Amino acid sequence: MLRKLIHSLRSLIVTPTCPICGRRLQHSEGFICLECNLSAPYTLLWQSRENAMEQRFWGVVPIERAAAFLWFTEGSRYRALIHQFKYHGQWYLAENMGRWFASELKVGDFLEGVELIVPVPLHWRRRIMRGYNQSEHIAHGISRATGIPCCFSAVKRTVHNPPQAGMKYINRWDNINNIFSVPHPERLIGRHILLVDDVFTSGATLLALATQIHRACNGNVKISVATLAASSHLVL
Ligand SMILES: [Zn+2]
Repeated sequence: MLRKLIHSLRSLIVTPTCPICGRRLQHSEGFICLECNLSAPYTLLWQSRENAMEQRFWGVVPIERAAAFLWFTEGSRYRALIHQFKYHGQWYLAENMGRWFASELKVGDFLEGVELIVPVPLHWRRRIMRGYNQSEHIAHGISRATGIPCCFSAVKRTVHNPPQAGMKYINRWDNINNIFSVPHPERLIGRHILLVDDVFTSGATLLALATQIHRACNGNVKISVATLAASSHLVL
């Protein structure tokens, strides 16, 4: 609450600048400047069915749609943006990016039938250390732009697993299988939910969560997946 208040007061006093190039923002621009908006590495995965991201789920768990917003490439300024909210406390960037993503998703049919947004949960210990769950802020941003409600209580991360970054695919899968629980499947049964996370690298976290939800709902749930970024290795 206090953090939000400080951020609001700061934005009243300080002239907003583009978090990517640092240029002063015009009133007509959103949270990034027009130039950075136009040159963003959009994946456009939300415009195509059976895309490379959806294919990661094939044979593991049925899903409706999957898409990431931006390609996550080494040295990219957009990658730095995601690091700012993930590791440097700038949670409000996650919400702004969620809104930006949603403005693109709303144009096509990707969100058709989606009734509930479910962010990937953090373990309570990591949440305390970071002070927030960045995926919840992304979910908030998408929710505010679309009117689709969020659900933060249906799923839980029960195991405090080590960070995923830098681990190999097989190890990642061993590391995260069965780390989620679904204490309230009745909130998801019969609904079409959108799982939201920051980055899709191997996809292991989202595969594990989707599998757990599908099991807990006895298959009576529709699942779509949206992340702010995906590793460009996905299409190599
Ligand atoms: Zn810019």
